[in-house]
Amino acid sequence: MTRNTNDLTIAVLPGDGIGREVMAACLELMTATESVSGGPPLRTATHNAGAQYYLESGDALPATTVEACRSADAILFGSMGWPDVRFPDGTEIIPQLDLRMEFDLYAGVRPIRWFPGLPRILADERAQGIDFVLVREQTEGLFYARGRGKIVDDSEAYDTMQITRKGTARASEYAFGLAERRRARRGTGRVTCVDKANVFTSMAFFRKVFDDVAAKHKDVEADHAYVDAMALNMVKKPWTLDVMVTENMFGDILSDLAAGLVGGMGMAPSADVGDTHALFQPAHGTAPDIAGQGKANPCAMFLSAAMMLDWLAEKHGAPELETRARLIEGAIEETLSSGVATPMEFGGGANCAEMTRATIAALPSAM
Ligand code: ATP
Ligand code: MG
Repeated sequence: MTRNTNDLTIAVLPGDGIGREVMAACLELMTATESVSGGPPLRTATHNAGAQYYLESGDALPATTVEACRSADAILFGSMGWPDVRFPDGTEIIPQLDLRMEFDLYAGVRPIRWFPGLPRILADERAQGIDFVLVREQTEGLFYARGRGKIVDDSEAYDTMQITRKGTARASEYAFGLAERRRARRGTGRVTCVDKANVFTSMAFFRKVFDDVAAKHKDVEADHAYVDAMALNMVKKPWTLDVMVTENMFGDILSDLAAGLVGGMGMAPSADVGDTHALFQPAHGTAPDIAGQGKANPCAMFLSAAMMLDWLAEKHGAPELETRARLIEGAIEETLSSGVATPMEFGGGANCAEMTRATIAALPSAM
């Protein structure tokens, strides 16, 4: 459904720790981008959720927040959770997992791209060409076991991996659609199914369903890799990777590894996409070790906002939002490559506020 961008509303959930810090920075950058690009601003409304709010109210994800997310056009999310704050049963406060389930956000999209000016983790020159996307199925897989694990007689424990045709097919479809869009820009498109089909029945089934989806997308190349081999290749030759689709737990692990390739968590954005709703958040957590010190690198949050603008642009046929996404990416690229400001995360001197100021200053003055 095409909507006038005047009417688009964003539910903003800053959360805890550095989530709040990078979100404040991101809203500043979005406002600055709107004044450069012209056109109507997105409406934003901030809502409570997370560990701090749980301490204040006894509720980690209020129903009013869930309903605000349901009626919003997109959800912009900081990060939530805190080490010592737990529910009475000892489980962690992870409202983002509840939102994933509530809105059936099955595709965890984790783009990994190297920006000039980032620390070189890999010596090989070709590492400057790192530009791939992990698509993580995130409604089932090994995370199906969350809250269902069993301890037997205090001597054994079990968790169950669930792979369904529906879950695998829709994550795979998303990956092929993405590869098709990327091909338009890059000239080639490939989706790699990352699994452990040689050992697990569930993973062999995952691969089979992937192959069924691949057969419908003959224009995009499709191949397979075992997750252990992929971990090796992601470090040895990440510049050869394009789009990957994988099970929930494998995706969780590989996406942190992938973030490490481009400097750290502060450069890794993510989107949780479903058929009707989508949530955009940095791939990092609340970083209790640096929270409250203003040191966080806001780039992952900025890049997540750019992903949100792209998603809204496509959904609502609004090219001006895509323009804003490119403005944000361009300003980050300019800031990092010029060396005007280097995030403290990479040994530079720029704290969150300084990174934000520099990124805003790197926007073109007007269009
Ligand atoms: P989660 O459980 O949510 O995955 P985590 O325990 O894996 O969280 P993160 O909060 O992602 O941990 O932090 C991992 C490390 O990366 C920490 O040392 C943290 O300080 C650092 N880090 C994460 N995000 C940023 C950022 N935006 N800027 C600078 N450092 C960051
Ligand atoms: Mg983590």
